[in-house]
Amino acid sequence: MKTVLITGAAGFLGSHLCDIFIKEGCAVIGMDNLITGDLKNIEHLFAHPNFSFYHHDVSTFVHVPGKLDYILHFASPASPIDYLKIPIQTLKVSSLGTHNMLGLARAKKARILVASTSEIYGDPTVHPQNEEYWGNVNPVGPRGVYDEAKRFQEAMTMAYQRIHNLETRIVRIFNTYGPRMRLNDGRVLPAFIGQALRGEDLTVFGDGSQTRSFCYVDDLIEGIHRLLLSDYDRPVNIGNPDEITILEFADEIIKLTGTSQKVIHKELPEGDPAMRQPDITKAKDILDWEPKVNRQQGLKVTYDYFKSLTRDDLYKKEHKSFDAYFR
Ligand code: UDP
Repeated sequence: MKTVLITGAAGFLGSHLCDIFIKEGCAVIGMDNLITGDLKNIEHLFAHPNFSFYHHDVSTFVHVPGKLDYILHFASPASPIDYLKIPIQTLKVSSLGTHNMLGLARAKKARILVASTSEIYGDPTVHPQNEEYWGNVNPVGPRGVYDEAKRFQEAMTMAYQRIHNLETRIVRIFNTYGPRMRLNDGRVLPAFIGQALRGEDLTVFGDGSQTRSFCYVDDLIEGIHRLLLSDYDRPVNIGNPDEITILEFADEIIKLTGTSQKVIHKELPEGDPAMRQPDITKAKDILDWEPKVNRQQGLKVTYDYFKSLTRDDLYKKEHKSFDAYFR
């Protein structure tokens, strides 16, 4: 039986990863400091004999007893609002936390996959973004704490591969959505759906001409799984190339939810990338992977999930663990 350590296990992506490895019959060790993660996302796994959970901050020394076959390092705040609120933790988890995970992988002779991001391309001047593009990042802008930490993470991971022959994988994740996203994390999809459910106007930042390309979570998880098991040790983009402007996206959410609210415009945040679309040629060639779920299908499932949340979830500003951490 393979043993898999997943950091950020209580988060949106981490929790879906826990699910698939448990389903495959692996022993899964989840780790999370619960700043932005939520135990609700993995509550259903606690009774499972192959699942265990450590409440731990991976930016400090990590000890895991026994053997490990795979490490998936997914711990990090990942929404602009989160990393603006907790910039130092964001920097630490992808630098110190990654160093700890690489060291652990080395000690256990485990293969490690680190979660990188389209943010390493910054405000891109190449469109769509392929893996050979080096990016256009402002290190001292508000997003620098996330972008540079993730760029450092990639550099550190490649150094461990080159110097210690560690088996490493790097996934560059583009905008992803689906059940278990936090309703209050500030990202555009939960923001719009939350606003529709509360009967508020939808806040489009800037004129809404900026683009994003949204990938449904099940597709992303499948791509990550394939990358982990592949022999390819350079970065791979995983995302859905179906690009849309944020204004068009707001219209789709208005139609989906049937809200009678309208779009209002707010100031565009500093450093907000003007466009983003993955070039997934590499994932197609190497992993024989491409997304299967279109936005209409994915949004419906995601909307049903958000509708199933309580009124309390809908109105609270932050989930309890975030508040508790900063008390
Ligand atoms: N956005 C928006 N209204 C919101 C939240 C976000 O118009 O209430 C925009 C944001 O300016 C960005 C896009 O939606 O251009 C995607 O933002 P998100 O925070 O989801 O992620 P990003 O791709 O910027 O990391």
